[in-house]
Amino acid sequence: MKDTSKHQGLRNQLAKQLEEKGIIDKNVLEAIKKIPRHLFLNSSFEDFAYLDKAFPIGAGQTISQPYTVAFQSQLLEVKKEHKILEIGTGSGYQTAVLCVMGAKVFSVERQNELFKTTSLLLPKLGIRPKHLSFGDGYKGLPQYAPFDSIIVTAGAPFIPQPLMAQLKIGGKLVIPLGEENQIMTMLVRKNETQFEKHEFGEFRFVPLLEDKN
Ligand code: SAH
Repeated sequence: MKDTSKHQGLRNQLAKQLEEKGIIDKNVLEAIKKIPRHLFLNSSFEDFAYLDKAFPIGAGQTISQPYTVAFQSQLLEVKKEHKILEIGTGSGYQTAVLCVMGAKVFSVERQNELFKTTSLLLPKLGIRPKHLSFGDGYKGLPQYAPFDSIIVTAGAPFIPQPLMAQLKIGGKLVIPLGEENQIMTMLVRKNETQFEKHEFGEFRFVPLLEDKN
């Protein structure tokens, strides 16, 4: 599949829609305009890639809806060179958004099939996360901690303690919390022991799974 001016036009429209839905971070909108989302999907979805919708990406998983990706990215207030941990690499689209925004991205995926496909795809598109890892995101990546922010892209039944521990003071953890529907939740680390909690309404994610099947 190629990236054409038609795709660019659709991306510009998508960014405009996201702006109308309340996304105001210009860097997020610029990243949405730059990243060829159709190349993160099976070619049968090409015609739909720039709709504000989630789609299947194999292994029973989905690429998040662009609005959700934009909303979570905006909450992170990404600065250039920020060290960001992502849990749930999936298609790599959210990873790409954060990389294009200038962050150093570390991402973990527990489905080997997706880990392998995405590890090959991102460099082909010129996107270079600092580190892609195959494993259990509940544990985070202690060897690379602490992080400026952590983003979880699957619905978590609770906040994994290791993720809180791997956050810098002043850092943000953005995590959709809940079983069926999730409340977008942000924890801001105030000091060694205290976190401030903010909630941002309902979203829908595939579940953050604990064991390997
Ligand atoms: N950011 C992805 C969203 C994919 S959906 C994208 O933009 O495409 C959520 C992803 O989280 C899935 O790929 C799923 O396999 C992964 N996941 C679920 N539980 C996980 C866990 N415990 N650790 C790491 N990844 C997990």
